[in-house]
Amino acid sequence: MAFEENSTASGSRRGVPEDWFVDPVRLGVPGVRQAVTEDENPLAWQTDSLCAQTDPEAFFPEKGGSTRDAKKICVSCEVRNQCLEYALQNDERFGIWGGLSERERRKLRKRA
Ligand code: SF4
Repeated sequence: MAFEENSTASGSRRGVPEDWFVDPVRLGVPGVRQAVTEDENPLAWQTDSLCAQTDPEAFFPEKGGSTRDAKKICVSCEVRNQCLEYALQNDERFGIWGGLSERERRKLRKRA
């Protein structure tokens, strides 16, 4: 499954990243994680992500779109900390990561 990227007038990337979803063939299913280290795949934690089992579009809404449903899911996600850490380390500009929006992550980065 691949997701289309949307481009804004300024040419910046929006939409669901192609490497965002979990590949069950490579990583296994939730709760049955294979021995894949973070060095081999920095997104290995996504195997246990709740968003991989839902509509990815909710996590990458159009500009001005609601983030409420996605954030509600993040509250119960067991890899929330890894998700937020990954987004901060990789300067993910778009979407909900670790329960925070782009703007919330920017604020968090400024405070750190
Ligand atoms: S914290 Fe939210 S965005 Fe991150 S993996 Fe979990 S459900 Fe997905």
